Amino acid sequence: MKKIQMTTPLVEIDGDEMTRILWKMIKEELLEPFIDLKTEYYDLGLEYRDQTDDQVTIDAANAIKKYGVGVKCATITPNAQRMEEYNLKKMYKSPNGTLRAILDGTVFRTPILVKGIEPCVKNWKEPITIARHAYGDVYKNTEFLVTGKGKAKLVLEMEDGTVKEETIFTFDGPGVVQGMYNLDSSIRSFARSCFSYALNEKKDLWFASKDTISKIYDGRFKDIFAEVYETEYKEDFEKTGITYFYTLIDDAVARIMKSKGGIIWACKNYDGDVFSDMLSSAFGSLAMMTSVLVSPEGYYEYEAAHGTVQRHYYKYLKGEETSTNSVATIFAWSGALRKRGELDQNEELIAFADKLEKATIDTIEGGTMTGDLALITTLSNVKKVNSLDFIKAIRSALEA
Ligand code: NAP
Ligand code: MG
Repeated sequence: MKKIQMTTPLVEIDGDEMTRILWKMIKEELLEPFIDLKTEYYDLGLEYRDQTDDQVTIDAANAIKKYGVGVKCATITPNAQRMEEYNLKKMYKSPNGTLRAILDGTVFRTPILVKGIEPCVKNWKEPITIARHAYGDVYKNTEFLVTGKGKAKLVLEMEDGTVKEETIFTFDGPGVVQGMYNLDSSIRSFARSCFSYALNEKKDLWFASKDTISKIYDGRFKDIFAEVYETEYKEDFEKTGITYFYTLIDDAVARIMKSKGGIIWACKNYDGDVFSDMLSSAFGSLAMMTSVLVSPEGYYEYEAAHGTVQRHYYKYLKGEETSTNSVATIFAWSGALRKRGELDQNEELIAFADKLEKATIDTIEGGTMTGDLALITTLSNVKKVNSLDFIKAIRSALEA
């Protein structure tokens, strides 16, 4: 069989732990036998990030800017425990945070629906896509431990010499304090990505924040969304028959639970982090959610929404059998290959991406699945398989 040819390389961003193991299996079993895979490889495994003082993460982001499309494996965000485990020089920032800060843009996460895995929320009949603002806020914060008595102030020194200063709090004992920021330009491109995506998908768009409490910070998000909608998108929304709806974040959560799905929910960075995990587990499993970062310049980075599945990796290292779900990582590859195909007008590559996704869904609907899904499926006669056998079952479906 002749392998599918690629004209432009994909930016391949490798990662950590169990997902790094799955990454290799997916390439060997599901991609390389069918495609003459052209990638530019960046190793974001924690050891190499440490060796390069995290320069490799910056290089990977710039490569996505150069080629337009990347696919990323889950990576460890170091904490105190990881510092010790990997003997790190520094507690590096989240690689996703670094990539998002360089690429800007918005992360869209959509559950992968399969027959036999029913959402916990009975009335959710269609997927709910979360659009997560991928810039700033608590992910780019500055924070201090307050070790005793003292005064924390917020000071803004403008270039023209004006100074604004306010006391945040006068501490009479230990505590914590943090500062964070966002940019009008980033909020505006976030709004544009969401409105465009909604038009493209012909789905209603919701946006929520806490502007009653955070009148200036969250209020800015609300106002920019309203302005972008009124001046750039309202007419097209009305023509398409879709709506834009703004509400408070707590109201949005209550309404989501009662909705039938089929909407795009734009979330601020932190809300998107939290609610995408809530939605993915309510729709089935963390491993059944696609994730793509879309920059305002039209760069795409595909990944899985879950982490490196550390617990399974430690079992794997001990030689124990694992049953880790590779669906989200497979869909990251298929999404990236499809987008690469669209940009290069490579019909064969697009068709392969479709076939790979169909083979994956057919495998699960046929009753062969990993442990996380076997636990929650409504199908009978289920065959629970290990990590590699699941990927091999997809390969058989693909070959058939
Ligand atoms: P996680 O890797 O998402 O795993 C949490 C738990 O969810 C797992 O222990 C497992 O449950 C279940 N799970 C997640 N993905 C699964 C899959 N593909 N198949 C089967 N079960 C799956 O989160 P974590 O353990 O909190 O984080 C581990 C590391 O990932 C951390 O170092 C964190 O920094 C990093 N992380 C990276 C990203 C990213 O790169 N996008 C995102 C989040 C976290 P059971 O153990 O019950 O089977
Ligand atoms: Mg998260």
